[in-house]
Amino acid sequence: MAGMEVEFDETVANQFSCKRCDRTFRSKRDQTLHRQEVHNHNKTTYECKLCAKSFCNSGNLDRHMKVHNDVRPFVCDICSKAFAQAVNLQHH
Ligand SMILES: [Zn+2]
Ligand SMILES: [Zn+2]
Ligand SMILES: [Zn+2]
Repeated sequence: MAGMEVEFDETVANQFSCKRCDRTFRSKRDQTLHRQEVHNHNKTTYECKLCAKSFCNSGNLDRHMKVHNDVRPFVCDICSKAFAQAVNLQHH
């Protein structure tokens, strides 16, 4: 089989791939249409106010918020309130 070259490689033809579900498309327009129809998350994005991470449903955001809530190393000696940042402790 020497001298045979693969001229139409499928991976080259389908070079527009969807980052979210690994589907591939022959044109950028197909890829864009697919993302708008299948992964239309833009309308319902839940964003964390503390670190600007975004989530596609409120349950994931709720679970993520516990990460921030649980980490409060700065505790007030007077009223026992706990804070995630030293600045918040000083100014409360
Ligand atoms: Zn996709
Ligand atoms: Zn966050
Ligand atoms: Zn206090």
